[in-house]
Amino acid sequence: METNVFTQHMDRRQIFKKNNREILRPSYIPDVLPHRQEEINSLASVLVTALKGERPSNILIFGKTGTGKTACVKFIGNEIKKAGGEEATVTFIYMNCEVVDTSYGVLQNIGNQFVKDFDQRIPFTGLSIMQVYNMLRDKLDEQNHVIIIALDEIDKLVYKSGDDVLYHLSKINDDLKKARVSVIGISNDLLFTEMLDPRVRSRMEGEKMVFPPYNADQLKDILRQRSSLAFDEGVLEEAVIPLCAALAAQEHGDARRALDLLRIAGEIAERENSEKVQELHVLKAKNKMELDTVSEAIRTLPTQSKMVLMCIVTNVERGTEKLTTGDVYETYKEMSRILGMGPLTQRRITDLISELDMMGIIHARVRSFGRGGRTKEIDLSVPLAETKKVLEEDDVFVSLKHYKQRNQTTLM
Ligand code: ADP
Ligand code: MG
Repeated sequence: METNVFTQHMDRRQIFKKNNREILRPSYIPDVLPHRQEEINSLASVLVTALKGERPSNILIFGKTGTGKTACVKFIGNEIKKAGGEEATVTFIYMNCEVVDTSYGVLQNIGNQFVKDFDQRIPFTGLSIMQVYNMLRDKLDEQNHVIIIALDEIDKLVYKSGDDVLYHLSKINDDLKKARVSVIGISNDLLFTEMLDPRVRSRMEGEKMVFPPYNADQLKDILRQRSSLAFDEGVLEEAVIPLCAALAAQEHGDARRALDLLRIAGEIAERENSEKVQELHVLKAKNKMELDTVSEAIRTLPTQSKMVLMCIVTNVERGTEKLTTGDVYETYKEMSRILGMGPLTQRRITDLISELDMMGIIHARVRSFGRGGRTKEIDLSVPLAETKKVLEEDDVFVSLKHYKQRNQTTLM
């Protein structure tokens, strides 16, 4: 058989069971959620009311990321659907407010779940909140249903655009004749209710639940369950699961992180054509994840901060010794000229440098010299090549490259 560029990759060892890599992704909901039976039972004991045709109390769920909030709520949603059967009079709606991130969007989206005809849909823009609310109320009231609305990451929406949604949804029952609505709010932030209007808060705080972080042993159980579905037997070396669990427990007992570590370790092992996933692959996965986090932080910096960072990168690359704020500012002024962007003051640049320092992207030590003179000595805390690569993704630096090609300047 003829070989081509894919040949050597085609007979690469399979680490994951066929097509089962997805099982380690956060979107997958397992049939059983170890160490969350208690939480699921409490949810069930509140929501069972809906199956009897009555309105359950509103529920607020708190917990750090990766404590299984989303998984448990989606799980219970599926159970409600199963228990309701064909003639179900309970509707369960799940919405992630980080995706649908305006009050208008949430109300419109909920309303449209009840619309079959396309031309009856609530438009995605152009109405007032009150108009959307009225349309939503009418749609809900067309049936004698109990409607459970789970709003995931609700804290993000409230931070961004206030508590309108919760205000409307928590009082909608007063305006409904047939339907009944109950809300499950899910938040990563324990203090989130303090942002709510007191009336909204008291209506929302029917039942409060806190999901505690997992400890290392619990994470091991979660990983074992998933790995038996995702990997062939014997592919994982003994130490792999305990290591993933220990690393994730150190963070704050985040099951998502534990699963990501395991998945990425598997992918690295596969790429290296290794027969097994080893401890070393987990450590490499940890490094990769840390690097990805840094890259993402850099990618989302404001333009001026990116410019400052680029100046630091340039200086480090050039081998400038004892890089000071003044050096960075000189480079920055030149760069602003080339990019045609009005330069900020040195004072502002000093602030941006401090911000980068606080984010852990650079390290700035205060150095005293002579008679009370002080300056900062700046170092990159992240890998240079990687940082430069991420910065260069930003179109703002395109002209810098052209400039470099045309003029053999020291800059860049
Ligand atoms: P949260 O919403 O609290 O941030 P998630 O529910 O998204 O956390 O959980 C993160 C990941 O961990 C998901 O892949 C989820 O399936 C998994 N997970 C969390 N808790 C459990 C559990 N008790 N059993 C099995 N998998 C879990
Ligand atoms: Mg979640």
